[in-house]
Amino acid sequence: MIPATSFRGRRVAVFGLGKSGIASAKSLLAGGAAPVCWDDAENSRAAAAAEGLAVLDLNEIEWGGMAALVLAPGVPLTHPAPHWTVRKAEAAGVPVIGDLEIFSRERARHAPEAPFVAITGTNGKSTTTALIAHLLAAAGREVQLGGNIGTATLSLKPPATGRYHVLECSSFQIETAPSVHPSVGVHLNLSPDHLDRHGTFERYAGIKERLVAASDIAVVGIDDVDSARIADRLAQAGRAVVRISQKQTLAHGVTVRDGVVISVENGAATPIASLAGIPSLRGAHNAQNAAAAVAALLALGIPKEVIAPALSTFAGLPHRMEEVGRRGHVLYVNDSKATNADATGKALASFNHIYWIVGGRPKSDGLTGLDPFFPRIAKAFLIGEAAEAFAGVLEGQVPFEIVGTLEAATAAASAMAESDASPEAAVLLSPACASFDQFRSFEHRGDVFRALVAALPGVTPRGVAA
Ligand code: ADP
Repeated sequence: MIPATSFRGRRVAVFGLGKSGIASAKSLLAGGAAPVCWDDAENSRAAAAAEGLAVLDLNEIEWGGMAALVLAPGVPLTHPAPHWTVRKAEAAGVPVIGDLEIFSRERARHAPEAPFVAITGTNGKSTTTALIAHLLAAAGREVQLGGNIGTATLSLKPPATGRYHVLECSSFQIETAPSVHPSVGVHLNLSPDHLDRHGTFERYAGIKERLVAASDIAVVGIDDVDSARIADRLAQAGRAVVRISQKQTLAHGVTVRDGVVISVENGAATPIASLAGIPSLRGAHNAQNAAAAVAALLALGIPKEVIAPALSTFAGLPHRMEEVGRRGHVLYVNDSKATNADATGKALASFNHIYWIVGGRPKSDGLTGLDPFFPRIAKAFLIGEAAEAFAGVLEGQVPFEIVGTLEAATAAASAMAESDASPEAAVLLSPACASFDQFRSFEHRGDVFRALVAALPGVTPRGVAA
């Protein structure tokens, strides 16, 4: 645990008692502060009380003299409307922060030179974060991996010389961390997502930009126009920027050509590693993630000879184009994490003959931008709340069937794919939708799919159980 020593002797309000909220409260307590915790849900309050934390209704307390409000991610700071605790804090002049801010203050105080890699972007954050941590571990470094992925930041070991913190940072975490100052900041890409939480696209993009603008070295994907502008602004301001691109020729940066990650310095290209045959890094989107990870490792001074072999041992993450089974020529792929059209496009681009399971609770972008992949789709199986609307989009372009549930979709897609004469077919769950109409989470949806596939006769299950 990282004790929050910068609040010693102060009262601090904590709202939102999930994993990261409880970790924040415990960190404050360990650092000598007096956290006062609250959550709207009775069971979360009970969980905090069971941890020995002071649970008090933040509606009833005196806010004057409070050092900060620590807000859990997921609690609205600004959109669609500020949470009532935020209004109370603002009225009393109390700063609203998140766990990344506490981490940043502790690092600045106790180990400002400790290596800290922060990763953001609309898509690919978790994969890139896990890959950077994997590569660092393979290089023999001590790694602490967490943030938006897995372990809450403040449950990790404290920053220290020679200990690498690799943190996935959501927009929310960046927004509530004014002192964040990574050694290497990675920004992958931008596309509209979570605008319900951030208002406008400009605002959302501005938050992402803050992370790389605050980094000693910025690694920036420039294959979308808004991210390219971020890189240009940083360069103009004289900041150290490493650009990542699969589309442009770079004078300085990391690129991927024909599956080979190449580092370019002053126009001179050095091949680093081939991604061919690495199942966990299949597809152009993963090439972007791999290039960003390689750039981060090079920026940290890790030799390229160590990076190349370590890429091939990356296991990948569950629910991201995860191969969950094979029977003969049919590959079963769980891409439940693809909750928007942009993410689903990456999966559709990675296979040629697809039985596509799609739908759920639709996002604002629907199936926008997926038309170029329609020729790859042998048939679409529509599930969830989006089924009717998606049927309207696919009509006349892609054969489809409204099947309603994931169970029915898996059975129907499997039966068709098995009797298909093509050399390789993919039954792909890549929903382009949130899961909450039929599942608890995207993980739950992916786990159900994995279990359905494992139960199909003759299928060899693969991959990791989440
Ligand atoms: P995040 O943590 O940002 O949500 P993940 O690594 O969990 O990202 O990947 C989520 C989904 O986004 C994947 O299933 C994949 O379809 C898609 N994806 C992954 N990397 C990228 C990328 N670099 N660009 C666009 N889409 C991506």
